[in-house]
Amino acid sequence: MRDDLILVTGAGGFIGGSLVADLRRQGCKRIRAVDIKPFGEWYQKFEDAENLVLDLETRENCLLAARGARRVYNLAANMGGMGFIENNKALCMLSVLINTHMLLAARDCGVERYFFSSSACVYNAEKQKDPEVTSLKEEDAYPALAEDGYGWEKLFSERMCRHFREDYGLATRVARFHNVYGPHGTWDGGREKAPAAICRKVIQAKVSGGKEIEIWGTGERTRSFMYIDDCLKGTQMILASGLTEPVNLGSSELVSVNRLVDLVEGIAGVKLKRVYLPGAPQGVAGRNSDNTRLRSHLGWEPSIPLREGLEKTYSWIYDQYMKRQRGERALS
Ligand code: NAD
Repeated sequence: MRDDLILVTGAGGFIGGSLVADLRRQGCKRIRAVDIKPFGEWYQKFEDAENLVLDLETRENCLLAARGARRVYNLAANMGGMGFIENNKALCMLSVLINTHMLLAARDCGVERYFFSSSACVYNAEKQKDPEVTSLKEEDAYPALAEDGYGWEKLFSERMCRHFREDYGLATRVARFHNVYGPHGTWDGGREKAPAAICRKVIQAKVSGGKEIEIWGTGERTRSFMYIDDCLKGTQMILASGLTEPVNLGSSELVSVNRLVDLVEGIAGVKLKRVYLPGAPQGVAGRNSDNTRLRSHLGWEPSIPLREGLEKTYSWIYDQYMKRQRGERALS
């Protein structure tokens, strides 16, 4: 297996770059890493991988990316936190071109296993109206009422994976990621998600002597957050598994945004006055991952405590922030 050619798309981004790093650590020798961003802007760069800068919205480029590959991790997508996906619905939906052309290319190039990163944004909004949520089971995606734009694209692409498996025999595997965070993730610029945004704001206040923190919404919405190492482990286990139906891959440690801020303040050793912005994008009221299906197939589920993951994330963002303050090049 270590000599098989593995394709990772979206390799210039957070999860893709971290997956390439992890595959290298395990001794995989032939990794093709593909992203649309110029190589200089990739979050993690490995000269010993085959690095290709390609726009995977076209079929031609997907064929270039997939040729000779036995396993494909398709992580390329236009995405970001709530602020980004609420204001870029058309752009998010255009990721359907990536998934369509990658599936066709995988079929035509004889790929053996194909992973698609779906999202908890596929779930029916009606089932996420209460911050005291009942965790979402996979069947709660239907009847469909996904997050507009981004979520509908993911749901449609999930179904394409299913039909490519049924009609063409391509072994597709689909995981619904629930909020992934960690070092090497986007932490500034508009696409960052809540854990990184809160770390950055707390660092900014601590470094500048600020006394306040702005929080999108009322602080009462709840989510679970999965540390990157759990995401990488689960992703690879799911691809290797017999799990043909979409499966949740998320932490089940539910926290409110206020609790998330408490944790980051605790790590930073500061206490800030909270200024709530109820009109800012904030998504559904509550969402958690039911991991019954994952556990029953893999005997495993994400377990890295939020506090532990946040410490590592905070420390990485702190370093990036300070680099930027000194005029050095920071990541993301
Ligand atoms: P990311 O934005 O850091 O990485 C995605 C990468 O895809 C980017 O580097 C981007 O340049 C690349 N890309 C976009 N369009 C492309 C194109 N046309 N051709 C080639 N590359 C292109 O995001 P991430 O957090 O690493 O997410 C990876 C995958 O996981 C995405 O499919 C995302 O929807 C999914 N996901 C992530 C989360 C999360 O919390 N991070 C949650 C649910 C689902």
